Amino acid sequence: MCGIIGYLGDREATPILMESLKRLEYRGYDSAGVAVLELPHNGDATRTSITKSEKKVDTLIEKLNANMPSGRLGIGHTRWATHGKPTYINAHPHTDCKGKIFVVHNGIIENFAELKAELQAAGHEFPSDTDTEVVPHLIEANYKGDFLAAVRAALKRIRGTYALAMFSSDDPELLVGARLNAPLVVGLGDNEYWIASDITAIIPYTKRVLVLGEGEVAAVTPLGPEVSTLDGKTVKPKIVHVDWDVAQAQKGGFDHFMLKEIHEEPDAVANAMRGRLTDDGVVSFREFDLPDDDLRRIREVLLLGMGTSLHAAIVGELVIEDWAGIPARAEDASEFRYRRPTFGDKTLSVVITQSGETADTLVALQQAKCRGALSVAVTNVIASSAARDADGAIYLHSGPEIGVASTKTFVAHLSSLYLLAMKLATVHGRVSLERRRELVEALRALPDQVQGIVDREKEIAKLADKYSGYKNFMFAGRGLGFPVALEGALKLKEISYIHAEGTSGGELKHGAIALLDESFPVVAICTDSPTREKMVSNVHEIVARNAPVLALVTKGDHSLDDVATDMFEMPAVEEASSAVLNTVMLQLFAYHVATKLGQDVDQPRNLAKSVTVE
Ligand code: GLU
Repeated sequence: MCGIIGYLGDREATPILMESLKRLEYRGYDSAGVAVLELPHNGDATRTSITKSEKKVDTLIEKLNANMPSGRLGIGHTRWATHGKPTYINAHPHTDCKGKIFVVHNGIIENFAELKAELQAAGHEFPSDTDTEVVPHLIEANYKGDFLAAVRAALKRIRGTYALAMFSSDDPELLVGARLNAPLVVGLGDNEYWIASDITAIIPYTKRVLVLGEGEVAAVTPLGPEVSTLDGKTVKPKIVHVDWDVAQAQKGGFDHFMLKEIHEEPDAVANAMRGRLTDDGVVSFREFDLPDDDLRRIREVLLLGMGTSLHAAIVGELVIEDWAGIPARAEDASEFRYRRPTFGDKTLSVVITQSGETADTLVALQQAKCRGALSVAVTNVIASSAARDADGAIYLHSGPEIGVASTKTFVAHLSSLYLLAMKLATVHGRVSLERRRELVEALRALPDQVQGIVDREKEIAKLADKYSGYKNFMFAGRGLGFPVALEGALKLKEISYIHAEGTSGGELKHGAIALLDESFPVVAICTDSPTREKMVSNVHEIVARNAPVLALVTKGDHSLDDVATDMFEMPAVEEASSAVLNTVMLQLFAYHVATKLGQDVDQPRNLAKSVTVE
């Protein structure tokens, strides 16, 4: 996974590539590079200037500012290494033996070893350790005077995933993009065009975007893009209008994107529900408008996700089972794809992915579809792969999320899953009108309640300050508090690098309790729920092992007053609302622990925002 950008137009390419790479940095950031076709002076031949850095985009920008190539065609890359260390040589763009073909790549060329051996035998030389480098050499090997034809011929030999931006110095007015199982869009301006792995890179320039389909190639010239298949068949381009603005994609005065995005959570929750819910609990999703009869035959719901999205899936599993009475199960998508699951056309598979490009989840979606399951993608990115591959999409409408650790999209996922659960419950006749009205009231109150927690940031920061010196944490909860505990632990470890585990309150004494002592605090989710009393007993067990306890309790509940080390009072709400509010508190807790420790919360080490490799 990485960010790629290409530009062809009548402006200087380098500043545009620099700005776009900065905006794409969240997709990968271990090294970066650009290639610009320089304008010939006084009848000289064209030459391509390559600038690379084995560090982050800022170092590349420093180099470019010191020596700015001038040209109207160029490509750029910010890398998240899969093959070969993040070094200068391995940084993209990569080129062929003659230094004429330039390529940036997102993804993995799975058969690179055999292709490389074949090309080496034919005399090609490979300075880097990357899989990507076979692409320019394979194009070179297939080049017979037509760059586009050579690209098509080369890509036909490739197995794996790719989003590519490419040009040849022999074709100074042609920028080529191609994709397979990795995202790629073409931005359409006036006499200028961009190729990017993500809309975020190009929104300052244009809101008209061509979404490239799987296995398609876009040949961009000053006349505009032409889309075709690898066989050369012309494809009608799919053009969408994007309504994100530039300000949405910037920090808006906050120290970090993550904090800004947590502060956007009241809106994220409201946007996920906007226009989709009537007073009587009738739910309609525009992009997933299935006849009730189709939903009525659903006998099982399978929720697939990874990381934070898997935790959202577990919340979805519990709520769908509870409200709709339909058997539901959340599965780790990367494991699910290698199983031989027994289900069929009575299954609804719900794929949960913020980016809509999570490779593991996309493959699991294919697996579910092959077995006849009806599928819906719950995602933040319009026209993303998941949205297009599934039978329907439920968009979060959260706006871009730049912080690598998901926050606002998690609460938006929960809100969307609550609506889906309500829809299934209504269609299956499992929930009375009265109960539905209660739930509608609870959901409508949620944005203000989230705001209430966000407004208590200072109180949470103080707790974070107190706990930031510990080296280990346990997060424990029951019922919906269990996935929230998993998410609280994940958030803390992702951005602070402190070891943290999530567990169910019941599971704790079957093993993990052995870890506890005065140096190992437990964050215990004890807010009101059918299992609150059991959780209170678990806290007693923890305290008996001298572990400090930070308990989340419902206001007015004094059962842990003299037991927990610290308490954070939450409002009395529906259990489903409580899962959202408790998560917001834990996100802010993790954020403040991490910033107290001076960590780079927006770009934690070893992570990337959109995991487009398996
Ligand atoms: N597989 C390529 C590499 O390791 C591209 C990785 C990426 O998507 O950034 O260089």
